[in-house]
Amino acid sequence: MSSQSQSNANGGELEFKGYAMCDSSKWTELKLTSFRPKTFKPEDIEIAITHCGVCGSDVHTLTQGWGESKLPLVAGHEIAGHVTRVGDKVTEFKVGQRVGVGAQIGSCMQCRACKEDLENYCPDQIETYNAEYDDGVVTQGGYSTAIRAHERYVFPIPDEIESAHAASMLCAGLTAYSPLKTYGCGPGKKVGIIGIGGLGHYAVLWAKAMGAEVYAFAIEPEKFDDIKQMGADHVIDARQKDFAKPLAQTLDLIVSTADVVNGSLPINDYLSTLWVHGVFITVGLPDSNSPLPSLHPMQAFAGNGCLLGGSHVGSKKECLEMLELARTKNVRPWIETLPMKEAGKALQDVKDNKARYRYILTQDIN
Ligand SMILES: [Zn+2]
Ligand SMILES: [Zn+2]
Repeated sequence: MSSQSQSNANGGELEFKGYAMCDSSKWTELKLTSFRPKTFKPEDIEIAITHCGVCGSDVHTLTQGWGESKLPLVAGHEIAGHVTRVGDKVTEFKVGQRVGVGAQIGSCMQCRACKEDLENYCPDQIETYNAEYDDGVVTQGGYSTAIRAHERYVFPIPDEIESAHAASMLCAGLTAYSPLKTYGCGPGKKVGIIGIGGLGHYAVLWAKAMGAEVYAFAIEPEKFDDIKQMGADHVIDARQKDFAKPLAQTLDLIVSTADVVNGSLPINDYLSTLWVHGVFITVGLPDSNSPLPSLHPMQAFAGNGCLLGGSHVGSKKECLEMLELARTKNVRPWIETLPMKEAGKALQDVKDNKARYRYILTQDIN
C-alpha cells in the first residue's frame, strides 16, 4: 500500500467513521467508531454518504443469524451520497455526482458470470460489509461517513429520484426487480408476491409498473389497505386456511420475500397457485436454522410442472434498468427517515416487522 493512497490532505492516516456493532450480544447498541477504508485504486470512487437504508440483511448479520460476524462491524448496504474523489481510470463518474452502492462491492471481473452481466453470481463476489477487500481490509457498510468502491459497483442516481428514495432501491429494490425481470413479469402476466415488507413492497410496486396483474399475499391485516394503495390488484389474506384454492393454476410467477420461514411457509399451497410451468422464486434468505419446509415432488410439482428457485440481489445492468423504470414510471418507495444515530431503533423495528416499509438513515456524523 502506498502511503499516499491512505493519507488525507493533512498527511495523516485516513479514517472513516461509522456506527459499529462492537459486541454481538448488544446488536442494536451501535457505537461511533473509526475504521480504515480500502486502498484507493485508479478505478475507485470515494463517496460521502448522505443516506443509508436498513435492510433485513443487516438484522440477520448483526444478530449472527447467518453465522458469526466480524467485529467491529458497520452494517448498511443501501447507500446513497455524492462522489468526493475519482481515481485516474474512472470513466463513468464525476466529483459531485449523486451515486449509490448496494449489497455488492466487488467480484473477480473475469469469470463467466462477471463477463455476462451476472456479477451478482460471481463465486468471488465481495459483500459491502462483513467481508474483505483484496487488500485484506474488512468491508464496512453505509451507517458511516464514506465508502470507496470500484466504479463497476457504483450506480448513478437519476436527477429525478431523490437520494432518500434511491438508497433502498439499491438492495431491496434491486433484489425484488431482478427475478421479476428475469422471469418475464409484464403485461398479461399474473404475478404473486409473498410477504409485503421492504422487499415485498418493492416487488408490488415494480410488478405493477411493469404492467402485470399483481396478487399480494399478506398475513398482517393492518397492511392490507397500504398494499392496495401500492397498486396490488388483489390482496390475499394468507392466514386463511384455504387461501390458495380459488387461485389454483392461475399465477405465472411468484416472488417470495419471506425471510422468516421456520418450516411453516405453506409452500405446497403457494406452488398450487402456479399455472403450468409457473415459477416460484425466493429472494428471502432466512437465518441458517430456518429452512424451507421439506417438499415431496408429488404434492409440490406434479400438479402443474412448476419450477422452484432463487435469486440473489441483481446486476448493475438490472439496477440501471430498474432506476430507469423508477424514473419513467415515477415509482417511489414507502419510507421513513431517521437520523443515523438511531440505527439501533430502526434495526429493532425491522426485526419486529414494524417498518413501513423501509427505514432510511440520514447522515448525522460530522
Ligand atoms: Zn439488503
Ligand atoms: Zn467473477
